[in-house]
Amino acid sequence: MTRARTGILVALLVLVAAVFAFVPAALERHYNTVHPRVHPTPSARAIALHRRLTIVDLHADSLLWARDLDQRSERGHVDVPRLIDGNVAIEAFTVVTKTPRGLNNQRNDDRSDMITALAIVERWPPRTWNSLRERALYQARKLQDTAARSEGRLTILRTRADVAGYLDRRRTQPAITAGLLGLEGAHALEGDLGAVDTLFAAGFRMIAPTHFFDNEWAGSAHGVTKGGLTGRGLALLRRLEERRILLDLAHASPRTIADAVALAQRPVVVSHTGVKGTCDNLRNLSGRKRGRARDPLRGGRGRGRPRGPGLRLGRHRVRPLRRRGPGRAHGRAARGRVLRRGRGQGHGRQRRAPALGRAALSSSRSGEG
Ligand SMILES: [Zn+2]
Repeated sequence: MTRARTGILVALLVLVAAVFAFVPAALERHYNTVHPRVHPTPSARAIALHRRLTIVDLHADSLLWARDLDQRSERGHVDVPRLIDGNVAIEAFTVVTKTPRGLNNQRNDDRSDMITALAIVERWPPRTWNSLRERALYQARKLQDTAARSEGRLTILRTRADVAGYLDRRRTQPAITAGLLGLEGAHALEGDLGAVDTLFAAGFRMIAPTHFFDNEWAGSAHGVTKGGLTGRGLALLRRLEERRILLDLAHASPRTIADAVALAQRPVVVSHTGVKGTCDNLRNLSGRKRGRARDPLRGGRGRGRPRGPGLRLGRHRVRPLRRRGPGRAHGRAARGRVLRRGRGQGHGRQRRAPALGRAALSSSRSGEG
């Protein structure tokens, strides 16, 4: 009997050890698929062009997974050696802290979470099990540790001087890369606007208000109500601008995008989002003019041509978005032109910002949200 119990105990221990040893890698392989396709060999001209470019990729969730990013891996999307091989100058490491079960593009609520199980199986510190903020700080620490181990091959960019110094260094030392810390979803603030400062100190320089579900700051493209920026969300926008943290509108609902574009006083970015012209789904940006709404892809009121530096995506040019002048949206709000509550405000945690510009109002009529 005792021998049988010992056998069961040993079997259980072996099972638990196997879970810790194999499940994290299997999960990364499952969620970050690489399609094995045979690609044509690039021409010498294409290779030469690729080598000349300063490549910036604005999204990788690699900090979520259990591997040393300083080491070359066969799984997942990036690590320091492969970024250098690929001539990637800057990679944005965007941190995920909570994902609902049954993740989908259409509709998710915030009642479940898969990251808790991941944190346990990957043996993150127990303080991360119940705290989204601790999960963000833990992943930031992982990037810092990777940079420290990399012997100068990975630089974390925190300031303009960091960027200038790094790019300067890279001219003579091409075998280096750099990381920018981003956050997918301000739910990691745990409701505390002051946590922006904590995240800034940890190195975060790009923050998206939402990820896959609506939260107290804004509506998500994949949420339940898909509302706009809330009153607290507007306060968050201002705090991010004060700290010079980029506002990232990836995963934001169309109304959140319209609100943010109307109200932002600094450029905003959409770090990883496509366009409906190539893939028509809920999260991608529309290139069409919607009433009087500002068109994010084309700039002011859908008439202007894109200006300034940007990214090309198929035949669309995507650029960092800019307001056209200070005080524009505030002027409208001050004149009291926007006071209607948005549709679909039934979700308890969603409250619309008290006063938003006409652009936001027009967009909410457009049928996108
Ligand atoms: Zn994302």
